[in-house]
Amino acid sequence: MMSEPRSKTSAADNVRKLDAVIVGAGFAGLYMLHKLREQGMEVLVLEAADGVGGTWYWNRYPGARCDVESMEYSYQFSDELQQQWQWTERYASQPEILKYINHVADRFDLRRDIKLNTQVSTASYDEGTASWSVNTNNGDELSARFCIMATGCLSSTNLPKFKGLDDFTGPTYHTGQWPHAGVDFTGLRVGIIGTGSSAVQAIPIIAEQAKHLTVFQRTPNYSVPARNGPLPLEVQQSIKAEYQQFRKTNNQMPFAFGSKYNFREDAATEATQEELRTEYEQRWRTGGLPFLGAFGDLLFDMGANDTAGDFIRNKIHETVQDTAVAETLSPRQVVGCKRLCADTNYYETYNRPNVTLVDISGDPIECITPDGVRAKGENFEFDCIVFATGFDAMTGALFNMDIRGRDGLELREKWSAGPRTYLGLTTAGFPNFFTISGPGSPSVLTNMLPSIEQHVEWIADCVAYLQSNDYASIEPSSEAEDAWVDHVNAVADTTLYPTCNSWYLGANVPGKPRVFMPYVGFPPYVEKCNEVVAKGYDGFKLSAVSQA
Ligand code: NAP
Repeated sequence: MMSEPRSKTSAADNVRKLDAVIVGAGFAGLYMLHKLREQGMEVLVLEAADGVGGTWYWNRYPGARCDVESMEYSYQFSDELQQQWQWTERYASQPEILKYINHVADRFDLRRDIKLNTQVSTASYDEGTASWSVNTNNGDELSARFCIMATGCLSSTNLPKFKGLDDFTGPTYHTGQWPHAGVDFTGLRVGIIGTGSSAVQAIPIIAEQAKHLTVFQRTPNYSVPARNGPLPLEVQQSIKAEYQQFRKTNNQMPFAFGSKYNFREDAATEATQEELRTEYEQRWRTGGLPFLGAFGDLLFDMGANDTAGDFIRNKIHETVQDTAVAETLSPRQVVGCKRLCADTNYYETYNRPNVTLVDISGDPIECITPDGVRAKGENFEFDCIVFATGFDAMTGALFNMDIRGRDGLELREKWSAGPRTYLGLTTAGFPNFFTISGPGSPSVLTNMLPSIEQHVEWIADCVAYLQSNDYASIEPSSEAEDAWVDHVNAVADTTLYPTCNSWYLGANVPGKPRVFMPYVGFPPYVEKCNEVVAKGYDGFKLSAVSQA
């Protein structure tokens, strides 16, 4: 589509000229590179890590695996790829997903356009040339027409500023930045802070190794059994026989996955006790996040949601022998308003004699000491501490860079009261700047892979449109952006999502504005994106080719 690729490094100014710079070499960055290269563009991906994989490169904690099934959590853009790749388990482990991503990088010869160990420090838009200047920590100076952020939603780790954090004399680990060599907890006294999805996966495995594991829980999380296991060849073959149709059906699901589990429309509020019990029991036995598809009103009606909460709380009490521990583990918030966890032996782990649960909901951790953690007036001594304290989600990775649009407008400044985007893809004042799975798009509420593919394809089509129509730049109008932000909030407000302190709202990071960031509902979102294009990029301002 591109007429002529832009010239390479200009000796005069030492600035390498490109058509597009992509930041991040996870699932989003790799596919974006592949797509734009297919369109004849000269592209460079900048990646801070020393390997590809994004979230699956960093999150190597024990037990890390995806909570979306492997036959669904994979690319669909290449039929050959999806037919040939063999998954081994119902839910793929982190090492297997990383192997898959590396296979994709090799298969599509992507590595030659990826620069590893390179962190973007600044990206700024130059009105005169209608292009982006990008600088890195390695001294790279790049100029590109398009700047595409594939920086991931959960990539900037959140390490709370506990008093005395640096005083601890033993090793500390964050689940989101796990050592590549792994950690052997054998014989150690381990403290873990946090009980979100990462901790729920790591705790059972650390407990098997450690001499003693102490879990500091601020908010209990709902978890359902994942029921992971080997993926039989015949199951793979039957899906592969109709893979495209399977993908299509999944894309019509509210969260872009799980079509084979029947997300029912019936209301829990109208079901009998027997119907509720039968449906929840069957989903508990099946395992995984489709538990939330038991009834159509679970995420919309407090009474309906209570029925699911009661069911899980009963399961916790059935599983955990110590009634007081079971009660402490029993969440009271809306099921699903913090991300539902899928586990292997999470609640069972609290029956082990070497595991202690410490409820810090009413008494925050006082400080980290040289020997461990002080909480509830007590000193807990540890050989090492694990922080499973999550991420500065959706905006954190973007704010780690100095990004400036038209007239030096800083992204951090523009979004100081919360992110503002049009379609989660673009933001006013930042021409030719795209965010893959950005705030205001379904992203983290969906199977990330189809969400990423939909964004990559939308961006690639948009770039091709600009090229073939001789436009220099595209950016949303403030009016379209304002209307989209209002719409994202209005949709969220019809659900129960905003009712608890989740990272969807930024509530996990002190001082972060409380704004619901993702868009609820994949199919209506895709329809809106397509409609915008069909109407000639409705809501966008397109500028003629720059004379500069
Ligand atoms: P998370 O869900 O944000 O959990 C962080 C935990 O740390 C929470 O229990 C939180 O308590 C606690 N915490 C934070 N600050 C604290 C403080 N100052 N004192 C005490 N406790 C504190 O993070 P995550 O577990 O890493 O998961 C993040 C997301 O990544 C998930 O929701 C999911 O989308 C994704 N993920 C997916 C998988 C999977 O596919 N299976 C696995 C891991 C992660 P509060 O709840 O009280 O804030």
